[in-house]
Amino acid sequence: MLASKALVNVLFLTSEVHPFAKTGGLGDVSAALPAALNRAGHDVRVFLPLYGRIDLRKHRMRRVESLRDLRVSFGGRAWTLQVLAAPLPGSTLEVFFLHCPELYARQGIYTHDADEHLRFLVLSCGALTAAQRMRFAPDVVHCNDWPTALTPLLLETRFAWDKDIFGGTKTVLTIHNLNYQGMFPAHVLPDTGLADSAHLFHQDQLREGRINFLLHGVLYADALTTVSPTYAREIRTPEYGAGLDGLLRARGNALSGILNGIDHGEWNPQTDAHLPARYSARDLSGKRTCKQRLLASAQLPYVEQAPLFAIVSRLAGQKGLDLVPDALAPLLRRHPLQLVVLGSGERRLVRMFRELERHFPRQVRFRDTFDVGLSHRIEAGADFFLMPSRYEPCGLNQMYSLRYGTVPVVRKTGGLSDTVRQWNPRTGEGTGILFDHHDAAGLRWATETALQLFNDPVAFRRLQEAGMAEDFSWDAQVAEYEQVYPRGRAPHTKG
Ligand code: ADP
Repeated sequence: MLASKALVNVLFLTSEVHPFAKTGGLGDVSAALPAALNRAGHDVRVFLPLYGRIDLRKHRMRRVESLRDLRVSFGGRAWTLQVLAAPLPGSTLEVFFLHCPELYARQGIYTHDADEHLRFLVLSCGALTAAQRMRFAPDVVHCNDWPTALTPLLLETRFAWDKDIFGGTKTVLTIHNLNYQGMFPAHVLPDTGLADSAHLFHQDQLREGRINFLLHGVLYADALTTVSPTYAREIRTPEYGAGLDGLLRARGNALSGILNGIDHGEWNPQTDAHLPARYSARDLSGKRTCKQRLLASAQLPYVEQAPLFAIVSRLAGQKGLDLVPDALAPLLRRHPLQLVVLGSGERRLVRMFRELERHFPRQVRFRDTFDVGLSHRIEAGADFFLMPSRYEPCGLNQMYSLRYGTVPVVRKTGGLSDTVRQWNPRTGEGTGILFDHHDAAGLRWATETALQLFNDPVAFRRLQEAGMAEDFSWDAQVAEYEQVYPRGRAPHTKG
């Protein structure tokens, strides 16, 4: 007989949850992973800030009366928080929002404001205070990225007295991207309310005048995870370690790489409500309709023989998009290939894609915006998806692409090398095209290989089918998190 598995109480702290607040993959993961943990029977309570842009009506928010007027105070300041809750679409889970307009009613999710450190410290302290009020004793507090990375230290200091609630709590920090560390000047130390515990902060950094939130999560979390096995290895090297590789090597035993899944409810070409037509691996005719409609909406001609390449991305240095003009311009001149780009972010990259569009107005279209519906239509309508990333902790779009029969063309790094299998023209096996060296020649070679593949419809179709058959569901990944989480209580004894 199979032993029944232990169930755990998880307090999940994050700065993004899709569809409420998202700037990238963290938002997708912070929705899908808690939902999958919940399906597996664990008791998960997700907390994030109620940002000004979140639409209360649309998301059917309710006020949680039992968590009324939560008081959080540290560093000589005090805040009174209200808690709202909303159903997570596609799940029986409710998500909790900390309402504090003074801190969160701003334009963006992240800001450059002088109190940025306080905005996320209040998230950590507010969620821990809510757990106390709910009498919810977490077996694990699961923190994500720099915004909640000081939580393990808070549990060892300010909240250590509460043995009833936190006496058995372990902490897990998931690093979704090592390069965003939450770096603040050392003079904010008194603000954090942890001045008495200054000796617990990284002393060299304090002397150099800095406090790095993520670094303290790496130091104090019981377990560290990151979002793919390859990235877990890469971040222990100086090339990818963003200055923390030494520490990550030192904590190597605590660090594991767990590949992200994708939400099969949200990303499914057979049911996707964003698409003008739906399709499956058996019948791809709907995909052709998606391509025609996408091109029409982009005011580009539909040319039967022309492959459509796509990019959906934050426009940031990490994504390696600066290679695109040098790599693709010679091919665009010689070949009728087309390119659709959806992205927002750094100005220089916006200018770069505008320029490319201006040079190739009948082949290139660039949309400088963030549009979830369009990102689905692009995944469905394109033939190839480009991700020339410098580094890529996991990457989700290549997995969405595989699911949508869109062949990924990716740099061999991080999660991209864990999820895309190289096409072998001799055997016909593989799911995509990978290139090694991050330079224009590498991307040009990969794109030329894609053109060669597209000219062989049988081989192309085989790759599409192989990609669509891959299983990146979250339910498989939950078992890996269960390995990392401490052993919880016996089933059906929720306390
Ligand atoms: P990262 O987290 O580094 O941005 P990921 O590939 O892990 O990269 O996740 C990116 C997520 O953000 C995907 O769901 C992608 O579709 C989405 N995304 C990125 N840019 C845009 C955009 N301009 N419009 C809509 N969705 C976007």
